[in-house]
Amino acid sequence: MEALDLNTLPQIRKESRFADLLTETHANICFTCGTCSSGCPLTFMDCLKEENIDCRKAIRMILLGMEQELIDSKWVWSCSACYRCVYGCPMGVHLTDLWYRAKSLRPRDKVPGVLQKGVDNNVETGNNMRIPEEDYVMLLEELGEELAEEECPGFVTPYDVEGAEYLFFENSKEVYAEPDDMKWWWKIFYAAKASWTTVSKNWESVDWGIFTCDFPASKEFARRRVEHMKNLNIKTMILPDCGGSSWGTRYNLEKYFKHEFGPETGRNYVYLFDVLLKFLREGLIKVDKSVHAGRIVTYHDSCKHGRAARLTFGDDRFEEAREILSYCIDMDNFVEMPHNRMDAYCCGAGAGNWPGPYEDVRTEHGWFKAQDIIATGADLVICACSNCRDNIMKNIKKKFNLEYEVKYIWEMVADALILDTEEAE
Ligand code: SF4
Ligand code: SF4
Ligand code: SF4
Repeated sequence: MEALDLNTLPQIRKESRFADLLTETHANICFTCGTCSSGCPLTFMDCLKEENIDCRKAIRMILLGMEQELIDSKWVWSCSACYRCVYGCPMGVHLTDLWYRAKSLRPRDKVPGVLQKGVDNNVETGNNMRIPEEDYVMLLEELGEELAEEECPGFVTPYDVEGAEYLFFENSKEVYAEPDDMKWWWKIFYAAKASWTTVSKNWESVDWGIFTCDFPASKEFARRRVEHMKNLNIKTMILPDCGGSSWGTRYNLEKYFKHEFGPETGRNYVYLFDVLLKFLREGLIKVDKSVHAGRIVTYHDSCKHGRAARLTFGDDRFEEAREILSYCIDMDNFVEMPHNRMDAYCCGAGAGNWPGPYEDVRTEHGWFKAQDIIATGADLVICACSNCRDNIMKNIKKKFNLEYEVKYIWEMVADALILDTEEAE
């Protein structure tokens, strides 16, 4: 490595591809305290040892003209955008904005794994998996018929319904491989007699553009959601369940489409927690606590619905999640993780690290979460994000030989629903 000539620093910073961010993110007032690195789970992880990068060093790399090494690193793609570093920084440095810029500067054909392929698929076909519209619509209809026969007489899956109250997007992962998982939300809407719809085109819930930092694509996905609302005259968009995608959608809506929402337009967007809680508080759905009696339950705070949302938008859904659980279980059987709410650890798979190629990263990062789960003694772990759920249920449980069941928070509600089928018909 060449010695750094300090006289060239002003020029380096002027020419940096991060130049416009140095003041905006407060990177230029970083005083190298290392609090960010101490709180970041990636620091000292074995699988990233070779690169020897941590948050503090990454900032120095940007400031000292080594940005290309950061852009080329595995480290920056291993970051789960959990916002622990941002939360810890005493100088208010927006570290994640710098990592997003680094990721956006990676040539698209060098983005790790299948992520960019999924983004391109979504841009071209309206979903990550290139599922044809007729197959998707057939699945919606057939699954709806199944649900009607099984538990919800008269249920018909609504799509492209004009004037519906709620707009709901399906996750292509479920459409492709886990279609029965789509029924939990449908069952809840049915029980609440809610007016809702999904859409037959551009229906993807998940925004991988935010994972690969393909910001034009991510903006386009948000634009399509708004377009659906306007075309179908829908009042309320339910943000995606995937934490990263809900964060990305809200980020784009607030940045580019704020004028499309609010009292003047009659349109708004809400989190899944808001919908569940409204149904429960207003008595639109009723649940039976005995379904989960005797279970020791804990809750995984998804960073994007919690810490990242608070630090970016000024609010979070920590207490809403716990209130939803209080309807479903006896809270004497609820145990908080040692690190919860703003202090929670990521599941290990955020920012695309579940569909991404680095299994070693999501496993070693997931060990922080595994230790917290072990400490609770819970046999039922509740998640509110599909990435979190998958890493906790399908990866770290197996890797660390753990014994617990994992459910989505809406799955918990759906499983405990008291269905008044006669009234709902
Ligand atoms: S915590 Fe903030 S000030 Fe301290 S090293 Fe990290 S970015 Fe710099
Ligand atoms: S966002 Fe999380 S994983 Fe990424 S650098 Fe910050 S603390 Fe580490
Ligand atoms: S995957 Fe879940 S826990 Fe991890 S960053 Fe995303 S929302 Fe947070």
